[in-house]
Amino acid sequence: MKAAKKIFETALAEGRTFILENEAKDIMKGYGIGVPAYDTAKSADEAVTKARKIGYPVVLKILSKDILHKSDAGGVKVNLKDDSEVRKAFQEIMESARKYGSEKGIQVDLSRGVLISDFADQGTEVIIGVTRDPQFGHALMFGLGGIFVEVLKDVTFRLIPMTESDAREMVGEIKAAKILDGVRGQPPRDVDALVNVIMSISKMVKENPEIIELDCNPTFVYDKGKGALVVDARILIEGTKPKESSAH
Ligand code: ADP
Ligand code: MG
Repeated sequence: MKAAKKIFETALAEGRTFILENEAKDIMKGYGIGVPAYDTAKSADEAVTKARKIGYPVVLKILSKDILHKSDAGGVKVNLKDDSEVRKAFQEIMESARKYGSEKGIQVDLSRGVLISDFADQGTEVIIGVTRDPQFGHALMFGLGGIFVEVLKDVTFRLIPMTESDAREMVGEIKAAKILDGVRGQPPRDVDALVNVIMSISKMVKENPEIIELDCNPTFVYDKGKGALVVDARILIEGTKPKESSAH
């Protein structure tokens, strides 16, 4: 996809290998992956205008090459219900980001402002990740979110590219797979939509091998027929190869 290459070129030209969330989501949308509606804003006023356009409630998140884990820097505010909450969240996010930077002894780049996004309904949280191994190439990881991945390490891997039956097998082979079938009176989840997201990510990475790391954490999976949304997207790409040194 040409759009992906352009985004990567721009990032590298700006001296960064971290693809910001809005850029990562632009690429994902191009691959047919569902994401909550989003826009970007560089001021509180602009954030309000964009929030109204998206419709309340919304989420605000910091967009900065220096902040990979936004929550750690106080950079995520969810369920904002009106203009004044958006204004306040914008100021607080910028303030926290500055503080986060000064604690680390760096000046955080705040020039990109924030991502404004539709506050998505809670779905079953899953994680889809990609890493690149120098020997084996790209592998895709899948698991349920929260304690399932962090404590129980209930995850499964496949090499990219993968077939649809690989993707289906992955979803069915984690220990907690039953949760997706619907337990305790819960309706079954939209496994077909989830399989489609996995397949689309596999395709995206196959076509863009400069991706060295990708995280869709969380991805929300809804009731059968209601789809799945990638709520957070993070992509790291390889840097340009260092120029051959003339020194010896
Ligand atoms: P990070 O992982 O960089 O801290 P996230 O984008 O994952 O930031 O946001 C942190 C949490 O906020 C998510 O795990 C999710 O629970 C919630 N969240 C983020 N974006 C949305 C959204 N658009 N709709 C609903 N919840 C969201
Ligand atoms: Mg996240």
